[in-house]
Amino acid sequence: MAIASTNPTTGELLKTYAPLNDGEIETCLAKAATAFASYRKTAFDQRAGWLLKVSDRLKQDRERCAQMMTLEMGKPITEAIAEVEKSAWVCRYYAEHGAQFLADELVDTDASQSFIRYQPLGPILAVMPWNFPFWQVFRFAAPALMAGNVGLLKHASNVPQCALAIAEIFAEAGFADGVFQTLLIPASRVAPLMADPRIKAATLTGSEPAGMSLAQAAGQQIKKTVLELGGSDPCIVLDSADIGAAVTTGLKSRMINNGQSCIAAKRFIVQASIYDEFAEQLIHQMQGWNLGNPLNPETQLGPLATQGILDELGQQVEQAIAQGATLHCGGQVLQGTAALLPELRQGYFYPPTLLSDIGPEHPAFSQEFFGPVALLFRVNTLDDAIQLANATPFGLGASAWTTDPHQRDRLLDELEAGAVFINGLVKSDPRLPFGGIKRSGYGRELGRVGIQEFVNLKTVWIA
Ligand code: NAP
Repeated sequence: MAIASTNPTTGELLKTYAPLNDGEIETCLAKAATAFASYRKTAFDQRAGWLLKVSDRLKQDRERCAQMMTLEMGKPITEAIAEVEKSAWVCRYYAEHGAQFLADELVDTDASQSFIRYQPLGPILAVMPWNFPFWQVFRFAAPALMAGNVGLLKHASNVPQCALAIAEIFAEAGFADGVFQTLLIPASRVAPLMADPRIKAATLTGSEPAGMSLAQAAGQQIKKTVLELGGSDPCIVLDSADIGAAVTTGLKSRMINNGQSCIAAKRFIVQASIYDEFAEQLIHQMQGWNLGNPLNPETQLGPLATQGILDELGQQVEQAIAQGATLHCGGQVLQGTAALLPELRQGYFYPPTLLSDIGPEHPAFSQEFFGPVALLFRVNTLDDAIQLANATPFGLGASAWTTDPHQRDRLLDELEAGAVFINGLVKSDPRLPFGGIKRSGYGRELGRVGIQEFVNLKTVWIA
């Protein structure tokens, strides 16, 4: 796949880049290894100082960075601005808390002194997706660099401008040459990189096939990995819930980032007694959703990020309908149709879409829909809701709406997910661990545990 920046709103090719050749990759690896040798000896307060400068830089440069994201992958500009701010927040968070998270931890034993010391591992490879082009990178880089590691970013091939801008921001903030580098390389270069002894570990956010491939390459070298993969998150709505709030928040969750969020509410599981009312409100709100040019601050739904994603989503919906699903709204690729303004007709637009009547026998039942497509299920009891929610290969985030404490406790205990949010939108937060179970991956980012993923947890025992 070429490394090209294409505006998904118009289909216009913005820029292309030549991927790094063998010699250039070698130079980057050598630079990373050299940088690590001195960077690992820097003090926490020095690293914190540089991270705070990154945070300030992001805030100053908010509009430019946000526009770059919107132009390269189509997210609504208001969401892009919020993403830059959140990236600034995670840098500040680890600058302020990293030293405390990684301080020596005394343990009482038969030694005169015994403790745990956290030490950096070295150059870490980060393979990142295009959907949150800034946030995904900063939530890896802030803790990794605060811990004394150095980072090598292989960003998704459709967001090279963002990838280069991020490396520039780290350099301008004062991080030494080689501490954070962007490698413009295709995915096929990742497995060979994992075999290089200078790369000590890797993190990947993306699809299952990409995760499997990285984990396999890392496994052959016995290298640590963190995987943040796909999800088909349930949003359970029980009869004690505030239906209006569940519809509004659930739909927002489904539509964020043009429907391309790993933790979007993708499956609405609704108790039979409130199902009709919920469905009616949901369809009404979906039909009023504001689709258009993502640079317009009023736009709620922009285009999908690539032609490939649009084609795949269109096929997935068509197939689901052919196999018996009921379509309530949307359901047709808008590209090339009169439903769009003439200047948007080459864009990768897909409308808010709702499907129901999908049984376990349908392939759609266990697929991830990576776009503005929601699935609606009717259940009779709490047991049925929990069983249906867990009946997918994924386990990323789950949300549930109830005002009954007994129901809430059962949901917290029994949902198979990396996170459960009650009466709210599943979201990432620098202060809370983030990650999945089952085929959604392993390891955690963010919070205290996030900074402890890429460190040597060294046991020290002194007689
Ligand atoms: P993708 O194709 O897997 O791409 C993600 C990254 O992996 C890109 O940098 C890509 O490079 C690289 N890649 C692709 N195939 C690879 C391989 N065989 N070996 C090594 N690297 C490889 O993912 P996507 O489909 O664009 O992204 C959407 C997926 O990411 C969804 O499933 C979504 O749920 C998931 N996601 C998960 C999280 C989370 O935190 N759990 C967050 C966001 C997204 P190229 O671009 O060069 O192919």
